[in-house]
Amino acid sequence: MLSFLRPSLFVDSVLKLRPQTLTACGIRGLVLDLDNTLLPWGEEEFPRGLLAWLGEVRLAGLAACVVSNNKRRRVERLASALGVSWIHGAGKPRGRGFRAAMAIMGTAPRETAVVGDQIFTDVFGGNRLGLFTVLVTPMSNREFPGTRLVRLVEWLVLRRLGI
Ligand SMILES: [Mg+2]
Repeated sequence: MLSFLRPSLFVDSVLKLRPQTLTACGIRGLVLDLDNTLLPWGEEEFPRGLLAWLGEVRLAGLAACVVSNNKRRRVERLASALGVSWIHGAGKPRGRGFRAAMAIMGTAPRETAVVGDQIFTDVFGGNRLGLFTVLVTPMSNREFPGTRLVRLVEWLVLRRLGI
């Protein structure tokens, strides 16, 4: 169980994730979580540097697709602003959203990385399908109220994993 919760890689911020590091591992597509991964939860503005980072991702030949459990309006608006495909109401950690993203990007599980801030949705869901998983530090302390309790358990898991 614990091994399914361990990310392949941990980085402070998506901006610190070098596309070349991923392509060197045979990755061709990125499943990107939205809230607290690409921008703070509840906010509308992407952080400085995100568009440039996404440009580097594309230049490295990586496909990208936003996969979020959030509602259509928010996911569609923000992912469209980034110019990437998107899936809303993904129901992570269930596999449906991840599989739909891989179908859009035309990638196999071993060629796909998921980047997200939550162990029990992004990392667990990705690991179960055999994806490369990248955990990032949440961009904000603000989040969906239901997530707060989960964070406490997550903190315990991170300590146990030594991350
Ligand atoms: Mg998130």
